[in-house]
Amino acid sequence: MKDRKLLMIPGPIEFTPEVLRAMGMPTTSHVAPNFIEVFGQALERLRQVFLCPSGQPFAIAGSGTLAMDIAAVNLVEPGDKALVVNTGYFSDRFAAILECYGAAVTQVRAPAVGDVPALEEVEAALKGGGYKLMTVTHVDTSTAVAADVKGLTALGRKYGVLVVVDGVCAVAGEEMRQEEWGIDLALTASQKAIGVPPGLALVVAGPRAIDAFRNRKTPVANYYADWTQWLLIMEGYEARQPRYFGTPAVNLIWALNVSLGQILDEGMDARFARHRRLSEAFKAAVNALGMKQVPVSPDKRATTLTAPYYPDGVDRTVLGHIKEAGVILAGGLHPAIKDQYFRIGHMGVVSASDILATVGAIEKGLAQVGYKFEAGVGLAAAQAVLTRQ
Ligand code: PMP
Repeated sequence: MKDRKLLMIPGPIEFTPEVLRAMGMPTTSHVAPNFIEVFGQALERLRQVFLCPSGQPFAIAGSGTLAMDIAAVNLVEPGDKALVVNTGYFSDRFAAILECYGAAVTQVRAPAVGDVPALEEVEAALKGGGYKLMTVTHVDTSTAVAADVKGLTALGRKYGVLVVVDGVCAVAGEEMRQEEWGIDLALTASQKAIGVPPGLALVVAGPRAIDAFRNRKTPVANYYADWTQWLLIMEGYEARQPRYFGTPAVNLIWALNVSLGQILDEGMDARFARHRRLSEAFKAAVNALGMKQVPVSPDKRATTLTAPYYPDGVDRTVLGHIKEAGVILAGGLHPAIKDQYFRIGHMGVVSASDILATVGAIEKGLAQVGYKFEAGVGLAAAQAVLTRQ
């Protein structure tokens, strides 16, 4: 019997055998001709996955937080005003990073945990605010709340601010059309819907973001994150002429190229639709099992993960039983409600059978802690969505 557990947390996710094989290949030189080709191709594919044909891609060793650091330190100068559309834990992090580089940060906060600030409120802040930049967390992984990136970006455009999207829990899962929507910089990390083990910070910067960087009056206050260096590297590899600054994460880049190829083979529209359908099926199960979700209304729910509150009388010990039943889930993260809810990631290569296996394990865990429900009701609700034409 297989005793491998299914990893259904909001990153790292499960990876395809082809991606894992690329990780296990003998490491090449970072200037080997076949690696140069792979790095160049991966950069071209990043542009396609972010749907940003005129963007400048960056793939740099580090986690998603480095991608946020790169965005902040290259785009803001001390004293610049920045607006953070705050939907939770990772928006707080962006505010802290921006402040670290001397930005004057204003935050428009969601009225409650699980909510998003109203567009009108963001517009009121933007109007006459003199902001250089605005950040939006596409999916706040702590709450499973999705922001209206399209609507917020349109506002950013209207008021001439650079729009930066933290898409760590979104890119390649949640619908995002960087160029069409007017997003100036979108970022993610390898371990989520991009489908590569942790270790790569991925950024695509549009022309206005690159211009803002080129027009800086002060130097970038971070040695490793500075685009002065990385632009030469990325342009070089894309032109199939390697240059050295910091040694690239060779195996991760090989794996990235494989995964981006698989993503593009599926097609971005098909991929967004699959994420929507699997999310809907999973959320239908959660609902049928009598669990409420952290996002305050259905239109604010992410498609890459789900955050249900534990039902009455159930606490985080249920996660141990669910794990025994074969599926690893994540606990709460948002400090205000940490012990009241749990999180399930369903992004990347996740399939309908993964959804059913997860719902089955949750049902088993809930039954073991004495929660009363009609056995199979979650599975039936998920299956009803999954088999719908
Ligand atoms: N932003 C969001 C929305 C995230 O979900 C995460 C990680 N969970 C990060 C930023 C930070 O990424 P990392 O942990 O890879 O540094």
